[in-house]
Amino acid sequence: MNLQSTTTLHNGVKMPWLGLGVFQVEEGAELVAAVKAAIKHGYRSIDTAAIYGNEAGVGQAIREALRENDLTREELFVTSKVWNADLGYEETLAAFDASLQKLGLDYLDLYLIHWPVEGKYEEAWRALETLYQAGKVRAIGVSNFHIHHLETLLKAATVKPMVNQVEYHPRLAQKELHAYCHEQGIQLEAWSPLMQGQLLQNEELNELAAKYGKSVAQMIVRWDLQNGVVTIPKSTKETRIIENSSVFDFEIEQEDMERINQLNQNKRVGPDPDHFDF
Ligand code: NDP
Repeated sequence: MNLQSTTTLHNGVKMPWLGLGVFQVEEGAELVAAVKAAIKHGYRSIDTAAIYGNEAGVGQAIREALRENDLTREELFVTSKVWNADLGYEETLAAFDASLQKLGLDYLDLYLIHWPVEGKYEEAWRALETLYQAGKVRAIGVSNFHIHHLETLLKAATVKPMVNQVEYHPRLAQKELHAYCHEQGIQLEAWSPLMQGQLLQNEELNELAAKYGKSVAQMIVRWDLQNGVVTIPKSTKETRIIENSSVFDFEIEQEDMERINQLNQNKRVGPDPDHFDF
């Protein structure tokens, strides 16, 4: 397994196990440099969203990186997400076109419903199915969906989501959701894998990291992968971008995987998808 290794989604599309997240990175030189550094150092997957307000910079970085590294668009996997205000059939179709235009791309690899706004996500899903069937996006999915949201969606859906991107880290192991998604053939993807940095001082993780001669960030990314969860740690620093992806030369032993699993407290750094007001 290496940085370009992929999981095969239920429709046969291959998605890299590890990608770069760009939440809270504003348009500008730092963003462009981070995305370019990631691609240069072997990342093939970039995760953005309309609400991040940085799709234009991500697109610019992608174009420059493809040229400079002699890669083709097909070698990259680009994800974006439709924001809550744009959930609705026509609205979501329009939001997709706007994202594509900002990114300067002619298709996306993955398009997600960002949050399960009650009463709205079913219509938005119909739009994603239309986009998928028209070949404008290679895979479609959801984000922040609990089991009950997925159950509601599946009743009406003709295409089953390929991915569910949720908050996931050693303090929030999402056991039931993970099992449900696994059963359904829906790939789980971790957002805030590092708990936005809050886990990096954790004593137990530091002890384990010392045992393997790795950093805590690397331990967590590796824990994600060994659990079969796609992960997208964010950093704008080239050294950390490299560090977070240098996880393919070691393996966490089963008993240590268990020790990390024991850290679960069902604790979130972000909002609970049953109680958000945006
Ligand atoms: P992460 O858990 O990836 O943590 C990012 C933070 O950790 C940043 O402050 C970063 O700082 C720091 N960091 C990264 N690597 C290291 C390292 N090796 N050593 C020390 N510090 C480090 O948080 P995110 O919330 O950004 O989540 C990752 C991605 O998930 C997002 O960027 C976004 O793409 C996605 N996401 C999706 C959501 C959704 O609702 N679907 C919600 C939230 C995130 P620095 O940049 O300075 O290195």
